[in-house]
Amino acid sequence: MKEALERLDALMNRLVEADQTGAGIEPLRVANELGKIRQMLAASPSIIRTPGDQRHFRCEACGTTVHGMAPPARCPTCGAQRFFVADIEQPFVESGAG
Ligand SMILES: [Zn+2]
Repeated sequence: MKEALERLDALMNRLVEADQTGAGIEPLRVANELGKIRQMLAASPSIIRTPGDQRHFRCEACGTTVHGMAPPARCPTCGAQRFFVADIEQPFVESGAG
């Protein structure tokens, strides 16, 4: 991701330079470089949630896990109103016991 952005910046600088100096730049080379950058961006891991991605909330009282974008008003099992955030991607923390 970082390398792709750096190469994009470099390409933008080259375009500006070509315009300012009147040196010109080969459109095909620009297209090729953009294609490589596009590939890098497409392959890079992302932590951005998709719009349909759901989070997980566990009822503090009974442990029922509810999926959704936000905690439900009430637990569907026991009616409690307090929830832990139980997202799967949360870092696992060692208990330190033993
Ligand atoms: Zn509950």
